[in-house]
Amino acid sequence: MNFFTDNEDIQHHFHHGVEWQRFVPLLEKGFTAADGPASLQEARELYETSLTEAGEFLAREVAPRARAIDEQGVGFEGGEVVHPPGLLENVAGLRRLGVTGLTLPREVGGFNFPLTAGAMFVEGLSRACTNTMILYAFYQGPAFMVLRFGTPDQVERWVKPLAAGEISGSVAMTEPDAGSDVGALSTTAVEEGGHWRLNGRKQFITNGCGDVCIVLARSEQGSSGLDGLSLFVVPRRENGRDNYRVARPEKKMVIRGSATCELAFDGSCAELLGPRGSGFTQILTFMNEARVAVAVQGLGISEAALRAARAYAERRVQTGRPIARHEMVADMLLDMEAEVAALRALIYRCTELQDRIVGLERTGGSAGEVRALRRQLRDRTPLVKWMGSERTLWVARTAVQVHGGYGVVHEYDVERHYRDALILPIYEGTSQIQALMSLKDQVGWALKSPWRVLTGAVRVQAPPDPMGDALRDLAAEYNSALRYVLARGVGLGTLAGAALRRRAPEREQLAYALLHAERLAAILASVRAGEALVARAGDSAARRRTAERYLNRALPQARMHAEIVRSGDRSTLEALARTGPGAGAQA
Ligand SMILES: Cc1cc2nc3c(=O)[nH]c(=O)nc-3n(C[C@H](O)[C@H](O)[C@H](O)COP(=O)(O)OP(=O)(O)OC[C@H]3O[C@@H](n4cnc5c(N)ncnc54)[C@H](O)[C@@H]3O)c2cc1C
Repeated sequence: MNFFTDNEDIQHHFHHGVEWQRFVPLLEKGFTAADGPASLQEARELYETSLTEAGEFLAREVAPRARAIDEQGVGFEGGEVVHPPGLLENVAGLRRLGVTGLTLPREVGGFNFPLTAGAMFVEGLSRACTNTMILYAFYQGPAFMVLRFGTPDQVERWVKPLAAGEISGSVAMTEPDAGSDVGALSTTAVEEGGHWRLNGRKQFITNGCGDVCIVLARSEQGSSGLDGLSLFVVPRRENGRDNYRVARPEKKMVIRGSATCELAFDGSCAELLGPRGSGFTQILTFMNEARVAVAVQGLGISEAALRAARAYAERRVQTGRPIARHEMVADMLLDMEAEVAALRALIYRCTELQDRIVGLERTGGSAGEVRALRRQLRDRTPLVKWMGSERTLWVARTAVQVHGGYGVVHEYDVERHYRDALILPIYEGTSQIQALMSLKDQVGWALKSPWRVLTGAVRVQAPPDPMGDALRDLAAEYNSALRYVLARGVGLGTLAGAALRRRAPEREQLAYALLHAERLAAILASVRAGEALVARAGDSAARRRTAERYLNRALPQARMHAEIVRSGDRSTLEALARTGPGAGAQA
């Protein structure tokens, strides 16, 4: 078994889909490094060999430990978090493979792999054991933050040990009273004699028991909201003593092998990371990368659930034939397959954009091109997070259904996949927050060019064939629903006026759009996933069938969402008007 080579869809993307030539030469700065690949061909061979070796390790060692890791869960003894033993063995194996810094630059001990190749590895890791994948993410994630914003000294002290897998980290934003509303955070950072001290509590911090925590805190007294925040590197131990307290990890129904900790900072020593007061802008870079990573995590869970369902449906015989040959089950399996393929296509579209942006930035490429790519990535990031969460939940739930009664029994993995999938729409910004972000961007772009609301805010690259027609129809549903919410709530005249004055419409004017933000995001996610799937369908009849199936299912669903949006039903808004905004909001 090999989790890289056994996946035909990944193999197709690797060999025929991904446009490596557009970013590998940039990431490798023209193949000039003595310790790097000397050509595109050599780079691709290196990725293929490494991913094949890793894929074999994932299937042979990581996957068999996944069930025990979930069953044992995270413990707490003598005031210390205790990871499940299998998780530690998996991480030790990843360290031996040398992949803890896979996509970090070679200068800091990484392999300088593109994020696209990294996603191929992370999908396999999440398919094998999503708990291990989460811990793995907390080597590179904090390392990228320090690399991007830290001083050379901080890079030396933190990035290199993280890349080598010698230490692990965490990233702390959430507080008991500040979840989706990051601006409500109250952890303070005060400078005393050239040193920073943190006070406050952070909630639900993944791997909060790690060796170093990147903390978002309020550094500017009297500031509020997203202003006046800064990022800090906070070592777990200072002069041999705990620098902050790690409370007992949460007992959860999801990702039970991943430590989710409450952290208490009480005069904790901290190092400023990057410019003072820019914390929120800085952490957004992490959040956007992490959102794509959560989608990849979802893809791994989806792939595992799909394979389990397929195998079970072939084995299980009812009324004289395998259930896979019963029409409704066959239908479920093909729909799952199409969803997984669509999610994968959208993910690689995002990681390729990320790779091109990083490559252009490293080589001083055209600022205009970077801006255009950033906009494409920004458009897709909340959608891929939304889709990687919500559609994975559907795939995992359907896998349970295919298993019938055995689907809810511990001996079968699909119940674990379903439970684990439940975390995806919650962390790194809930599905509703992704939908709001997508809507906010569309409204922002509409304000810049209001006539596009009339002519069609979203355009697709679609071939001149029936699949292209379906894609254009999907985009038309989105455009019509967006036009409706803007015309209905804001009014097209008001929108044009707001554009002229360069002022966003008032929140009340956007209420109808906010009400339907997730329906709009669902439609737009299927537009962007369909677009990516069609672009990579190629000449293969099987791939075209999958793409056609996806579009055939996505279009009526989009029409249903759009119909609800265009129904003009204001009953929720009327109910809200009767109850008022609530005590918290009035305070
Ligand atoms: C296992 C786990 C691991 C985590 N790891 C980390 C970590 O490493 N670091 C970290 O900083 N945080 C972490 N979190 C926190 C996570 O990011 C938050 O739970 C998440 O952002 C939601 O915040 P909340 O739980 O306070 O929910 P709330 O923000 O209270 O949301 C509750 C519900 O209200 C909805 N809602 C909220 N605001 C709006 C709005 N404006 N419009 C529409 N709907 C809205 C939400 O979508 C949700 O459905 C983790 C959480 C969990 C459970």
